[in-house]
Formats: sequence, C-alpha cells, structure tokens
Amino acid sequence: MAPFHLVIGGELVAGVRSMPVINPATEAPVAECPRADEAQLNAAVAAAKAAFPAWAALPIADRRAHIIKVAEEMEARLEELSRLLTAEQGKPLDKAMEEISGSAFILRALAGLDLPDRTVQEGAGGRFVEQRYPLGVVATIMPWNFPISLLMVKAPAALLAGNTVVAKPAPTTPLVSLRIAEMFNRYLPAGVFNMIADANDLGGVLTAHPDIAKVSFTGSTATGRKVMASASSLLKRITLELGGNDAAIVLDDVDPKSVAKSLFEGAMVNSGQVCLAIKRAYVHDSQYDAICDELAALAKLAVVDEGTQQGAQYGPLQNKAQYDKVREMIAEATERGTVIGGETLDRPGYFIRPAIVRDIDDDARIVREEQFGPVLPVLRYSDVDDAIARANDTDQGLGGTVWAGDTARALAVASRMETGMVWINSHMNINPFVPMGGAKQSGMGQELGQAGLEEFTQRRLVFVPA
Ligand code: NAD
Repeated sequence: MAPFHLVIGGELVAGVRSMPVINPATEAPVAECPRADEAQLNAAVAAAKAAFPAWAALPIADRRAHIIKVAEEMEARLEELSRLLTAEQGKPLDKAMEEISGSAFILRALAGLDLPDRTVQEGAGGRFVEQRYPLGVVATIMPWNFPISLLMVKAPAALLAGNTVVAKPAPTTPLVSLRIAEMFNRYLPAGVFNMIADANDLGGVLTAHPDIAKVSFTGSTATGRKVMASASSLLKRITLELGGNDAAIVLDDVDPKSVAKSLFEGAMVNSGQVCLAIKRAYVHDSQYDAICDELAALAKLAVVDEGTQQGAQYGPLQNKAQYDKVREMIAEATERGTVIGGETLDRPGYFIRPAIVRDIDDDARIVREEQFGPVLPVLRYSDVDDAIARANDTDQGLGGTVWAGDTARALAVASRMETGMVWINSHMNINPFVPMGGAKQSGMGQELGQAGLEEFTQRRLVFVPA
C-alpha cells in the first residue's frame, strides 16, 4: 500500500510521528498513519491563510470546476477507496462503496450550488441587496462512523463559498480521508485544502487557533461543548452536528412485521453507529409483543462478520473504546430488562451481535444515553401523548421517526417531536439539497443545501439607492 501523508501547503508531508490504524474486524494494523504535531498544525493553518485571498477572489464557477474533479477521481477509484474504508472503519464492503459513491454524489451536488446576490427588499428609495462572502480558514473535524460522507458535507461547501480548509479526520479512521486530501491537493491551488491527522490531541489546538474563522464539527455532544467554549473568545462561527438519542414512535395501526423490519434496519444500520440511528422505540401496548418477537427473530438472523466477507450485513464496532462501552451498556441492561442477542463473537475483532432490549424502564442507561452500537430498547406505551412526552424527555433532539398506517395521524405526532428532523414511515432519507441540523444539545446550525452552504459565509447587506 502506498504510504500516507499529511497535506500541508500543497505538499505531501510525513508526520513528525506515526501511529498504526487498526482494522476493527481483526485487530491487526491496516497501515501506519502520519501524526502531526502542533508545529505542523500551525503550518497547515498558515498555508490555508496564505492561500485564502487568491482562492476567495476566483469566480465561483472556477472554484466549482476545481472541486468537481475530486468527485471524478473518487468515482474512478471507488473499489480501492471502499476496500480501504472497510479495512479501517469495519463496515461491509457494499456499504463502504455506498459511502464513497454517495460522498462523490454529495460533493457534486454541493459544488453545483450558487451564492448569487439577492434583493431582499425594494422600494422607491432603493433596494437592500444581500451578498455572501467567505469567512477565511475553516476547520472541519470529523468522527469515525462515516468518515468520508461527513468530510464531504463540509469541505466542498466551505471551499465553494471561497474559504480555505484545514481538515482533521478521527484518529481511528484517517486513511481514506488522507487519500482524498491528496486529490483535493492535486486539483486545487496549493494551501487551499490541508489535512492533518492526530491521536486525539490536536482538535482543541485547531479550534482555538486564532487564524481559524469557523469550525465545522461533527462528533459527540461532550466534544461539541469544548468546541463551543474554544470558539467563544474570538466569537468564531461554529456549526455543530452532535449526538442523538432518536426515538421511533410506532402507532397502533401498523403492520408489525413490516414495521419491525424498518425499525431493525434503522437501529442497526452501520452497526448502530449513526447519529440518526433509531435508538429507542415506543411501541403501543397492543402491538408490543408482536413487534418485539419480530425484532428478536431479525436479530437472530443478522449476519455479523468481517466487512470483506460475502453476505456480511453488519461489521464490528469501529474501535475498542466504543466496543467496551456498548458491552457495558448491554450488561447493565440485562439487570433491568430482557436482552435478546447482543453476544460478542468468539474471535478477534470488536463484534457485537444486534441486541433487542424489552421490558426495560425509561431510566435505564441504555434508554437515556446514546448507545452508538447495535442495540434497540423497545418501550411500551398505551397513550400516545405519554409516548410523545417520553420521546421528548431528553437533552438531545437530532432526529426521530413516526410509524403509522394513517399518515395524517403520524403527521400530528411528528409535529410535536422536539427534534431537528422527523421522518414518517421512512428513515434517514437524506438529500444533499435539504439542510439538516439538530435541536437542543444535538447541535447548532445546518449542513447541506443552500442553508448549509451559507453557514460558510458572512452575510453582507448593502443598501443601494434608487
Ligand atoms: P468525538 O467527539 O470523540 O470525536 C469527534 C472528532 O473530534 C474527532 O476527530 C476527535 O479527534 C475530535 N476531537 C477530540 N477532542 C477534541 C477537542 N477538544 N476539540 C475539537 N475536536 C476534538 O466523537 P466520536 O466518538 O468520534 O463520534 C461519535 C459521536 O459523533 C456520536 O456522539 C455521534 O452521535 C456523533 N455524530 C454526529 C453526527 C451528526 O451529524 N449529528 C454524525 C456522526 C456522528
């Protein structure tokens, strides 16, 4: 495998140190990853700052033409990038291919947006024109569950708007990101896109850097708070996409078999390591046993294996810390309710089989906290008002789902959920042209679509006399 490099100021650079990246399905190293120190981080920010004026001055169509070339190369190298993603992240190869090709699609979609001047109000005296201009150097910081999709909801929009970027992947999934950084470097002027990799020690230094104008962060709520604190002294712009504890509310008129399948897929997708995964299901008393039985049957049938194996549906947890946390939560849940599944595999790798947890109380940790693993607690309700109140009784508010035979009833329930997104009879229906963001402590600001693009700009209002 070709060596990996940091990308700083148009150069491919060795790290001051290096670190192994571990395949979570085997616990064997995939490759050595360069690790930056603070001086290299500062060099990356300085390069981005120096490249900013010329990049910002280019017409947006020219910036678009540069950025789109990265999508072309990603598509041409789909197989190679997907195999590397499976090796470092753990997800099945077909899902890795979806992530890489989907990320190229998002890149193309975002690169196709525009930032025209807009007349906000016009009268006899003149008109108010809204303009959008770039902020400067943007830091983008990603987690390890969808390393490439999450890079691609940020970097193309930041760049299209005329900013330059210093990107930092998560320490356990840096490899495909570094390959894609080389592509940005190939097609964009030197210093416009930089990437450093760390061992979880440079995120705070990057967000606190005085030459960073904006931080676009995806990760846990706990780290999001630190990002917000470090942005406060200079009033930096921030977009925070944080954790979720998404509830599914299942009304009493559903078909148990088909809804159970949707709930299962929505909870176990990417082995449950999705901010928007279904993390709690509230099921009406009249359907509770039937749906729990269907879910238990699906858990037993699920194929959990190394992502390169034919037929693997679910890979391992991405890293040891997450594996330990989910195992601990499952062990606690066995003392408060009934757990079906949730076994580890008797071989190397951070594998946990899907777990359905039934007859558990709302205060159990597995219900109150984001599990970020292949776990679905199923909670019983008899009054829908009570189900909505319980679903909303959390500090988090990312997404949610409502499942019903009658869409009008579902809409009435969806309209009372305190979250940034709700899907009716579907899940994770994400569109690059539709902005999304969390409520409460699930985040701040929007990503994707026009609103997401505009978050990488400063709005300037100009009054032009008649
Ligand atoms: P994390 O917060 O531990 O790490 C995320 C990134 O932040 C990593 O790159 C990490 O190195 C970096 N980081 C660590 N300390 C930092 C600091 N002080 N300042 C700045 N950056 C720092 O999160 P994780 O464990 O990698 O990811 C899982 C979390 O991400 C879950 O809570 C999940 O819900 C959330 N997530 C949210 C979304 C969303 O769109 N809302 C999407 C995916 C994941």
